[in-house]
Amino acid sequence: MEQNKDLNQFDIPLAKRTLLNNSNSILKKKLLILSPFLFLLFSIFALRFNRNIEIGAPNNLNFQAQINHDHRILGHLPYAEIPEAKLVLIEPNIKVHIDMRDSLLKMRDEAKKDGIYLVFLSGYRSINLQNEIFYSLKSFRNQEAAERARVSAPPGYSEHSTGFAIDIGDATKRDTDFETEFENTDTFKWLKKNAAKFHFKLSFKKNNKYIDYEPWHWRYEGSVEALKVFETANREI
Ligand SMILES: [Zn+2]
Repeated sequence: MEQNKDLNQFDIPLAKRTLLNNSNSILKKKLLILSPFLFLLFSIFALRFNRNIEIGAPNNLNFQAQINHDHRILGHLPYAEIPEAKLVLIEPNIKVHIDMRDSLLKMRDEAKKDGIYLVFLSGYRSINLQNEIFYSLKSFRNQEAAERARVSAPPGYSEHSTGFAIDIGDATKRDTDFETEFENTDTFKWLKKNAAKFHFKLSFKKNNKYIDYEPWHWRYEGSVEALKVFETANREI
């Protein structure tokens, strides 16, 4: 009995150890068999994770670029200032891009033949002048930038800086200068019908979601340089 007891006492831990050893070796074997698959799974996961990081960055950039794809500020596109050498004087205080001078003057002459008298109100404006206009407290009383931007471009964001923009009035209806009512003048009606022949286009139509309707503001698109300048603006509806 005593021996049995001893044996029993000895046997139990031994059995336990064997069982433990057995289960350990089974697990090890399983791991050994599975290890290539586990490695493969891990590799695939690591690869996908890596690719996601690689793809993720440009995707994020594209997303950002879609938001700011045209770099607008308060609805206005950026425009560089034209070099002085490309500007010509057409009126005592009005300079325009040399490319558009002939076409603009021809348009005025042709209108005159039809009894329509165009008056040029504003052509090229330097970024400094635009700065004064945009931030002038005289012109805008207690208006936030976004409100101002509906009627005037922030400096560096005006078509007038390119020399390809011209504000036109009716010489017989000067009270409509820079006013929406200009659209009721014979000059505007004539421009709407004929300006395209001279490569002029209305920049801010009634359906513009950012900027108020400006029937007096026309831009020239009759040269490759001008088309390049307004390429982004024309891509949008
Ligand atoms: Zn204008």
